[in-house]
Amino acid sequence: MLKSLLNLLILSFVLAGCATPQTRMPTVSNAITAEETKKQQALVVEDYMNNYKKLQNVASRIVSAGADLCGEKVGGYYGFNFWNQDSFSPALKEAAKVRYGLDEKFKVLDVAAQSPADKANIKENDTLVSINGWLIPSGKEAEKQLNQKLAEYGNTQSAVDITVLRDGAEQKISVTPIKACDFKVYLAPDDVKNAYADGKNIVVYKGMMDFFKSDEEIALVVSHELAHNAMKHTDAKQKNATIGGVFGLLLDIAAATSGINTNGDFSRLGSGVAGNAFSVEFEQEADYVGLYFMTKAGYKIDNAAGFWRRMAVNNSQAITMKSSHPTTPERFVAIESTVKEIKNKQEKGEPLTPELKKNK
Ligand SMILES: [Zn+2]
Repeated sequence: MLKSLLNLLILSFVLAGCATPQTRMPTVSNAITAEETKKQQALVVEDYMNNYKKLQNVASRIVSAGADLCGEKVGGYYGFNFWNQDSFSPALKEAAKVRYGLDEKFKVLDVAAQSPADKANIKENDTLVSINGWLIPSGKEAEKQLNQKLAEYGNTQSAVDITVLRDGAEQKISVTPIKACDFKVYLAPDDVKNAYADGKNIVVYKGMMDFFKSDEEIALVVSHELAHNAMKHTDAKQKNATIGGVFGLLLDIAAATSGINTNGDFSRLGSGVAGNAFSVEFEQEADYVGLYFMTKAGYKIDNAAGFWRRMAVNNSQAITMKSSHPTTPERFVAIESTVKEIKNKQEKGEPLTPELKKNK
């Protein structure tokens, strides 16, 4: 075995030694290469923004319709998102500036369909000027301050005057935020098939967006993550954790669909991986409550189990971790019976509220 491996190594060195190109290829100028780099960066930025809008259109419906399942974790929701030149990573900053005309001011680049902002006629490319007369600052702390103001006014759920600059003229637009689950949904640019919830936010990766075949599939994953946050799984997980204690990258979807769970596999997988995954019970609860979120937002849940099956099959090669056992069949059976439970309630016109344990 070792000998054949050694031979293979030697052979590959020999091959590498004589492997030079045989043809006379066109020469490439630096200027043209730089142009090409810019083109590609512009495409990356555009692709990111398109995915971002797709994600927010779905998430907007779910956080709004699910407000009563989020307990005290609710806040005023507007449905628009804004960027300035510093919002993008250094590599993409120039491309973003050019593509979307960004400077130090905040520009609305995303308005979720049917959201309060959309209904009030806030538009993409509007530059934000002031909120209830408060002039929006620029600089490093500006984004934080702006978000704080929006949250503060949003909590009263009364009309907020937003002044924007559109086509060179200022316009005052009155937006009335609605009560919604107060968890922000982010798109991470990495090409990873994963999504996670950390108790405060929901993060969906671009690789995951590429995998989705429909809005229902986006809704399924967002609802699952929202359920983790609404049911406070992160708090509970940190209390339950016996190994590690430092939580880096959360793996949720990638872990759940490749059969990793924290129940019996702590010691075998080590804290690095297992400590960042939710337990089987929490996964099942996120599936269960998630389907309620999805239904309330008006999405069809019939294909829920089918999507997780597709993830499970696909994830075995997509992630670089060993799966200790296949995703449990119980998960799919439980999902199918939740779908039945919800449809039954819909037919009878009963409220779409998850069943709680009797002794709670
Ligand atoms: Zn999960």
